[in-house]
Amino acid sequence: MSEAAATPESAPPVDLGSLTLLALQSFLKGLGEKPFRAQQVYRWLHQRGATSFEEMTDLSKDLRARLSSAAVIRKVEKDLEQRSVDGTIKYRWRTHDGKLIESVYMPSTDRKTLCVSTQVGCAMGCTFCATGTLGLKRNLTPSEIVAQVHAVNREVRKNEGLEQLRPLTNLVFMGMGEPLHNFENLKVALEILKSGDGPNFSHRHITVSTVGLVPMIERFGAETDVKLAISLNATTDEQRSRVMPVNRKWNIAALMDACRKFPLRQGRRITFEYVMLSGVNDTDADAERLAGLLEGVPAKVNLIPYNENAGLGFKTVVERRAEEFRELLAARNVAAFIRQNRGRDIAAACGQLANVEAQPGEGAAPTPAV
Ligand code: SF4
Repeated sequence: MSEAAATPESAPPVDLGSLTLLALQSFLKGLGEKPFRAQQVYRWLHQRGATSFEEMTDLSKDLRARLSSAAVIRKVEKDLEQRSVDGTIKYRWRTHDGKLIESVYMPSTDRKTLCVSTQVGCAMGCTFCATGTLGLKRNLTPSEIVAQVHAVNREVRKNEGLEQLRPLTNLVFMGMGEPLHNFENLKVALEILKSGDGPNFSHRHITVSTVGLVPMIERFGAETDVKLAISLNATTDEQRSRVMPVNRKWNIAALMDACRKFPLRQGRRITFEYVMLSGVNDTDADAERLAGLLEGVPAKVNLIPYNENAGLGFKTVVERRAEEFRELLAARNVAAFIRQNRGRDIAAACGQLANVEAQPGEGAAPTPAV
């Protein structure tokens, strides 16, 4: 990679992977290059996941030299890889400034999904979540968000002996951080990830999950076309404010109002994530209230038995209780599914991403996230 020399004027080098195709065209125009060069460079970066200018063999040596003195390609370095007995792989990456972030690869028979992080740590402080205990260190740049996808595509190609440049099929933004708290960078990352000259993910295969930053939900609906998930996790304000401090600012009524107004494409539903905490939000009355809250909202509910995190004080529900809860919702015509917990043994499950090493099979300390 080219952690470049500063330009003669000592302007900071441009983070090339954070530029949309249009922005890259304008950057290269500044270097006296034609628009098709931008497409070439963009394809190297975002179709092939190039991590150095040297790889861009169809560019002249002169252009590569000029690029490396004016710009950098920020990649993420693999710091740790942990494999679950269920096939899930948790990757820990080191950013250029030494920060640690995590992404979780979840293969299944019909898809290869990556759970992506958008921030280093998280400011939301959900009390059941390991990431929340870290606090927010900083936002990830668009290139750092996208680099997780490129890096895992490379890993999957290598591990599974695949030729295709983009073996990943689905992306969920449910890793470390609150995506809508880093909306501008998320938006650029989504544009890159969906671009035809880039990885070309379909908007149908990308889901962004939020704790409910109400004003940002409106912007998200107006400015993007990917799918929305809401991390709900409670049915009364008293309960929700206790586990999700964001509820003190935007309560359940405000959140559900934003969901009702959310512009849904035809046939699409909002996913509501509901982490089941024993004795906190798993009563019959909760199921009734939940069904009531969702009335009039095209919705599906993912019931997530809590992944216990040592020291956070919450307990998971037994399987039977999750099933009873699902049945109560079904009886009220709410589509609900018990979500299979992936990577629990390596602390890769929802809410467990806290840069803590866990040994496969140990049944790590843990939690649910967004
Ligand atoms: S659940 Fe999501 S939003 Fe809440 S603290 Fe964890 S990472 Fe942040």
